[in-house]
Order: sequence, then C-alpha cells, then structure tokens
Amino acid sequence: MSYAPKRFDFSLPARINLYSDTQSKPTAGMKDAMLRAEVGDEQGGSDPSVWELCDRVAALLGKEAAMFLPSGTMCNQVAIATHCRPGDEILAHEDAHIQSSEGGAPGAITGVMVRGLSGPRGQFSAETLEDAIRPVSRYSPPQKLVEVEQTANKGGGACWSVAGLNAVAEVAHRHGMAVHMDGARLMNAAVALGVPASDIAENCDTVWLDFTKGLGAPLGAVLAGSTEFIGEAWRWKQRLGGSMRQGGMNAAACTYALTNHVDLLAQDHANAAALARGMAQIQGITVETPETNLVFFDTKGTGMTAAAFAGKLRQAGVMVSVSDTWRGRACLHLDVTAAMVDEAVTIMRGVV
Ligand SMILES: *Cc1c(COP(=O)(O)O)cnc(C)c1O
Repeated sequence: MSYAPKRFDFSLPARINLYSDTQSKPTAGMKDAMLRAEVGDEQGGSDPSVWELCDRVAALLGKEAAMFLPSGTMCNQVAIATHCRPGDEILAHEDAHIQSSEGGAPGAITGVMVRGLSGPRGQFSAETLEDAIRPVSRYSPPQKLVEVEQTANKGGGACWSVAGLNAVAEVAHRHGMAVHMDGARLMNAAVALGVPASDIAENCDTVWLDFTKGLGAPLGAVLAGSTEFIGEAWRWKQRLGGSMRQGGMNAAACTYALTNHVDLLAQDHANAAALARGMAQIQGITVETPETNLVFFDTKGTGMTAAAFAGKLRQAGVMVSVSDTWRGRACLHLDVTAAMVDEAVTIMRGVV
C-alpha cells in the first residue's frame, strides 16, 4: 500500500480550482513581504517576524500567548498532547477533522480516545455534551477535552454561534474539561457572523488559525492560549519537529494575509452563494445552502456519483473534491473570481 499522493496531471491544468481553499497560490504582495522579512532562529527565539505574527494572533484571538507551527494538523496535535494524557477521552463532533482526517494522530501520538458526538451541521448542543459526560469512576476514561471546529468543515462550512459555543464551554468547564477550538476557518466565521474572532474564541482555552486556507499563505498556522499552556506546548512543538529556523519568511506571509486577505473572505462567501444558486438550477443536483466559502452538493439525482461528476469536470478544467459516494464539495478562495464561478456553473450544467 502506498500512501503517497498521486502525481497531478500537469498536462491538464485546473483552470477553475474549487478543490480546496488550500490550493490558492501566494499573491505577488505576499511574496514581496516574504522576501523583505527580517529573520532569525525561530526555535532560539530570535526571529522577529515570527514574534510579530504570534503577538498579532494572540491579540486577535484574545489570548495571552501564541506559537507558530507548520500546519493546522500540528496545532491540533500539539494542543491535544498538551491538554491530555494517554487514556484520556476527547469529546468532539463525529465528523471532526481530528477524528476523520489526521491519520489517527490523537491515538498514535497522545494515546487518547475521541468520542464522536452527533448533531446537525458539524455541531453539537450543550445538552448532547452534558449527556455524554459520565460520572467519574475508575471504569471510565478521564474526560479531559471538548473540541469544536469553527467553521465545521464536513458540516458544510457552518458557523457555530457565539451563544452555542458559550453554552458548550460552560458545560465543559463545569465538568473540569478544557475547550479547544480547531479554527482552521475561524476568520471565515468571524467575517460571516460579523463578530470579532476574540469574541468567538472567548471561552475556548486554546484556539488556532490556519493561514493556508482562505487566508492564502503557503505554509503555517498559529496556536494560541495562556502563557502557561503555550510554554508547556513548546515541548511538543519540539518533539514533533515543529520548531523551525528562519520561519520569519513564512510568518511574514501570514502577517501579510492578516493585513490584506481577511477582508477578501466576504467575496469568497458571496461567490459561494452565487455558485450554490447556480448549481441548484442544474437538474439532479441538490445543494446545501452555504454559510461561508464551502459549497457541498449531492449528485444522486443525476445518476452520477460525486466521483464521476468530479472526473468529468476535471476533463473540462474544473476541480471539485469528493466527500463520499454522492456528496462533493466546491470551495471558494482567493484564486476564484465571480466570472470563474459563472463559467464553472455553465461547465457543470454541460457535464450533467
Ligand atoms: C484543513 C483543516 C485542518 C488541518 O489543517 P492543515 O493546515 O491542512 O494541517 C484541521 N481542521 C480543519 C477543520 C481543516 O479544515
């Protein structure tokens, strides 16, 4: 079995790349910021551009401290390893990224169990959480951490409301559990809800932002929390090989994204709404109404699987991703314009 990615067919360019918001390329302004970055030794504490980014993200998220890591997956795993010990249990939505898409890392790295909670749109209620809490006894695993995803990726890019989050955090804290937010697309939620990110994350003990999704940086994510937590988390950053050297070039790209790309997310959301409206007009396709930049659709009514639909689109220069037999995802980002959305809808109609 090979787990290596298949080499992309470079002879067939993806003219309209709706595969993921991770596929956007660094802009000219971002590359310029990277070239001009002052750098040092990140793991030795002497890279000024990394400190600038971490200070800025800590303030943005209303936390005391932050650390720069290569990826969102590493943010989740460093946080889980710092919050939990082997044998502990994490409560998260059953479709959570830590559950489905991180290679079993919570079990492999920290030795924790993840218990999946159900609920619509990738979210669960305070009542569902309360029902999953067991009396403390030597029989049951210590329940240490509640994890929430903002926005909920497989939940259709849906936004947790601040009230919903606060209710869940209240239950968690009352039972002595910490709350961790996977904020891969937290800034999409902040823009869509019109609420500062620090208000959204207020009752989360730890939270991270991904810079390689809608924000368009080539690499990097930042994990934030208390000074004590981040201090302890540094051991796991080191252990997992996430301590960097001249990380400032990448940090500068992330800082550039915070300054220049957050406001552009609203355009991605408008493009997602337009794509959803257009796709809903195609016979046989049903579309989940998007709240942010992710558009999930169902191909069952066309008789074509999501994979068959995606394969035909690929031949026509449009890339979408496949979630399961009938469900697919189209994702809006910096490199997709409103005109490209119209063209994609026309191509999709042709394919069906
Ligand atoms: C992409 C993603 C991650 C992982 O981030 P990487 O930077 O790709 O490692 C984690 N959680 C969610 C919800 C994501 O969408």
